[in-house]
Amino acid sequence: MMKGSCLCGDVRFEVEGPFPWLYQCHCSLCRKQGGSVSNTGLIVAADRFRWLAGEGLVGKWQRSTGFRSHFCTRCGAPVPNPLRDTAYVWVPSGLLDGDGPLEIGAQLYVGSKASWSKLPEGVRQFEAAPALQELIATLHAKRALRG
Ligand SMILES: [Zn+2]
Ligand SMILES: [Zn+2]
Repeated sequence: MMKGSCLCGDVRFEVEGPFPWLYQCHCSLCRKQGGSVSNTGLIVAADRFRWLAGEGLVGKWQRSTGFRSHFCTRCGAPVPNPLRDTAYVWVPSGLLDGDGPLEIGAQLYVGSKASWSKLPEGVRQFEAAPALQELIATLHAKRALRG
């Protein structure tokens, strides 16, 4: 079990293992959403995710293409959101408290990464991204699960 919280701590949640691989996305939307070189996320089955506090503080924004950003309306930190029409939840990995058994297993949209961003070696790279169900399957492959 890992707990997570936003910057101010009012939005809190927990995620139950085993944990799939993380992915890091370098697309222009994720870079803006995370305010950095990439977004690092964990995709967990909805039944392994629970809100502990502050669900009512979550603000929501969605692009017409479906890309969403949910955030704490007090501190502005990105918070978990349901992954499109799947039974999964997207969790920004930086919100997790403590060190869990986590590892990055995929680099997405390396074709649009910032020129000054260096990619780690030995991690599977995708020029763009695989279809959502394929990505979920890749991150949840048995060899990927930890904890
Ligand atoms: Zn907050
Ligand atoms: Zn992205």
